[in-house]
Amino acid sequence: MTAPERDLRLSERGDELRDELLDFMRTHVMPAEAAYEQHRHAGGPDDHSVPPVVEELKTEARRRGLWNLFLPAESGLSQLDYAALAEISGWSLHLAPEAINGQAPDTGNMELLHLFGTPEQKEQWLEPLLDGRIRSAFAMTEPAVASSDATNIQTTIERDGTDYVITGRKWWTSGAADPRCRLLIVMGKTDPDAATHRQQSMVLVPIDAPGVRVVRDLPVFGRHDQHGHVEVDLDHVRVPVTNLLGEEGGGFAAAQARLGPGRIHHCMRALGAAERALAMLVARAESRIAFGGPIADLGAVPNEIAESRIAIDQARLLCQLAARTIDLHGNKEAATLVSMVKVTVPRVACQVIDRAIQVHGGAGISDDVPLAAMYGWHRAMRIFDGPDEVHLRTIARRERRREPLLTEPGAVR
Ligand SMILES: Cc1cc2nc3c(=O)[nH]c(=O)nc-3n(C[C@H](O)[C@H](O)[C@H](O)COP(=O)(O)OP(=O)(O)OC[C@H]3O[C@@H](n4cnc5c(N)ncnc54)[C@H](O)[C@@H]3O)c2cc1C
Repeated sequence: MTAPERDLRLSERGDELRDELLDFMRTHVMPAEAAYEQHRHAGGPDDHSVPPVVEELKTEARRRGLWNLFLPAESGLSQLDYAALAEISGWSLHLAPEAINGQAPDTGNMELLHLFGTPEQKEQWLEPLLDGRIRSAFAMTEPAVASSDATNIQTTIERDGTDYVITGRKWWTSGAADPRCRLLIVMGKTDPDAATHRQQSMVLVPIDAPGVRVVRDLPVFGRHDQHGHVEVDLDHVRVPVTNLLGEEGGGFAAAQARLGPGRIHHCMRALGAAERALAMLVARAESRIAFGGPIADLGAVPNEIAESRIAIDQARLLCQLAARTIDLHGNKEAATLVSMVKVTVPRVACQVIDRAIQVHGGAGISDDVPLAAMYGWHRAMRIFDGPDEVHLRTIARRERRREPLLTEPGAVR
């Protein structure tokens, strides 16, 4: 590692924004969680209306300059700076990321539009997204095929005169149940006879285009998210060819580009969730008395507190290193580190949240505390944006090609 690669300090602006965001979290976001949950609970699982507190928080965050921090071209921040900010937003996953316009899947979609959109596409879709007026979804995964291998995607995008006609079925299209969602970025095949990684393209599909039908919303461990994760049927959906995002056959490469920083942003937030779980674990263990003393002194709890601290700090260092590598050398150079982060951080988050659940006893698995919902989301994270095994495969391949610093005398490679 070179000296610049080892320098994990925040910029001055990153530091200032961190202080501002912490204050916003303390004074506005954390206190708003109760109102958010009340709205969601009152509406029931089929309700996807937006709790009013979300838009109120967006206004306040914007007033404080906490807006669009995820996109270096907009914010002027590095990925390393953003890692610290995204982590803080991860303390309140339902509210803080969206309050600062840093919520998935919109951030990844905005990155795509920023990288590959035409001036007209940017005006129509990127501007309102950056302004927080609309939301969007990314439709790649399909129920009928193993979608961790994106070359399996079956949805067809056929050229017909000046239009594309799109037919297929998607699921886990996050965000498409939100009433503010206007845009689906759909991945499908434009040329099934091309080379394996040149068959796919992405097209911009207005969610109200004829032939788009939201079939159902999928729960994550029984919980329906406000913006939803939906199954969508695309039945001969017609859009003009000018809705192609990037070039024909460039969909696979664009999907990789989207998931570089996007994957690591999820992990940065997951560190915040792990920190919150550990803080809750400690507070509960110190205040709850069993067998004559605080639970914090019983059994394996002291070790679990210490192991959690070690695991979070190790995971954060890996995440910071990956962010720094993206800043210095770009997404491609950082790909293995991003895979390492994607495997490590959700595991650590799940482990720490699980320990916090255990220390909370019955309360831990109820909805009285956020731990059960946090566990569900971070367990799902081990599947979305590439299951663990796919990333492990990437890491192992790279390792097998790596020249060791020294070789064993007589070793054959
Ligand atoms: C909460 C959530 C949100 C999501 N949001 C979106 C979204 O917005 N847009 C979107 O398009 N998709 C989204 N997804 C879908 C997600 O990206 C896919 O579920 C994921 O890519 C896995 O695809 P699959 O479900 O088809 O699993 P499959 O491809 O069928 O894989 C199943 C399992 O097989 C194993 N496996 C796969 N490959 C390998 C390998 N190389 N080596 C060893 N084992 C392997 C793994 O254990 C894997 O979990 C979301 C999923 C969830 C859970």
